[in-house]
Amino acid sequence: MPSDRRMFLGAGLGVTAALASRTSGLTASAQPVSSDGPPLPADVRLEPEVRAAAAHDFGRLIQKQPRGVLRPASSTDIARLMRWARGADVKVAARGQGHSIYGRSLVEDGIVVDTSAINAIRDIKHDHVVVDAGAVWRDLLDATLAQGLTPPVLTNYLSLSVGGTIAVGGIGATSSRHGMQTDNVIALDVVTGDGNELSCSATADPDLFDSVRAGLGQCGIVTRATLRLVRAPERIRRFQLFYRDLPSLTADQRRVLTEGRFDQLQGDHSSRWQRRLAVPARRRNIL
Ligand SMILES: Cc1cc2nc3c(=O)[nH]c(=O)nc-3n(C[C@H](O)[C@H](O)[C@H](O)COP(=O)(O)OP(=O)(O)OC[C@H]3O[C@@H](n4cnc5c(N)ncnc54)[C@H](O)[C@@H]3O)c2cc1C
Repeated sequence: MPSDRRMFLGAGLGVTAALASRTSGLTASAQPVSSDGPPLPADVRLEPEVRAAAAHDFGRLIQKQPRGVLRPASSTDIARLMRWARGADVKVAARGQGHSIYGRSLVEDGIVVDTSAINAIRDIKHDHVVVDAGAVWRDLLDATLAQGLTPPVLTNYLSLSVGGTIAVGGIGATSSRHGMQTDNVIALDVVTGDGNELSCSATADPDLFDSVRAGLGQCGIVTRATLRLVRAPERIRRFQLFYRDLPSLTADQRRVLTEGRFDQLQGDHSSRWQRRLAVPARRRNIL
């Protein structure tokens, strides 16, 4: 089995026609389905307001009007849609919380699979949790913290879906220690472009596992994930250091990374900090 992501799609195992809408060269067809084509599955929502809500994302830079929106109750609903979409040559885009910024969860004249309703947090053990892909990290964290546990890597903003960040990587303040969120996935349940419901992990179907993680939703729709958990710290000490320029900030970041003294590390070079830094600089000039 090829391990390269493009070969995966080419081999027809992946989401092929259905999910390839934003990967140049992989798009099977942009043709609309003719009116005498197979009817849309009954559970696809066609109301203008539902379609309008799925036509944009957080970035508001790209707008794509879907033909319909599926809000699946289960992986089986997604598999049924994928088989229909493949037969009808209609594109499908997975959507979590729509917080990507450049149209990744949008599809023109296709079907958006809004995963937000498949969000159960299923089984919390001392070292892992099984969670549905539409759950947001905030809810997952609330549930695991109640047992003194946490995913090793969290995004800064927690109202992103588990599936949505597994599809892009997921970076956080502990990534210097634990890698990306995708590095902390133990197993996935996935629906592929041909409508198969498969489970994969580092040992079971590893090519699919490697393609779906950070695969931008092009190689399958994640429906459930088994994620690593670690013990949550009961207390932390937090230091905030302010810098006048970026080179000094990055030099210190490299230093503490090399020393490995801190569990979490973040840098911020926004204009907010620059303004705050401007105050002592002016004062010193006055003095
Ligand atoms: C305010 C804000 C803060 C952010 N902070 C961070 C941060 O700290 N760290 C970080 O890494 N990122 C951060 N991001 C970026 C964010 O991780 C990505 O945009 C992420 O994809 C958003 O998740 P979502 O649930 O909104 O996914 P969506 O935007 O809905 O989807 C993003 C991509 O994932 C695919 N996808 C969604 N669900 C699935 C699924 N179940 N199976 C397969 N593919 C799927 C979509 O097709 C699309 O390609 C931030 C974004 C915002 C707007």
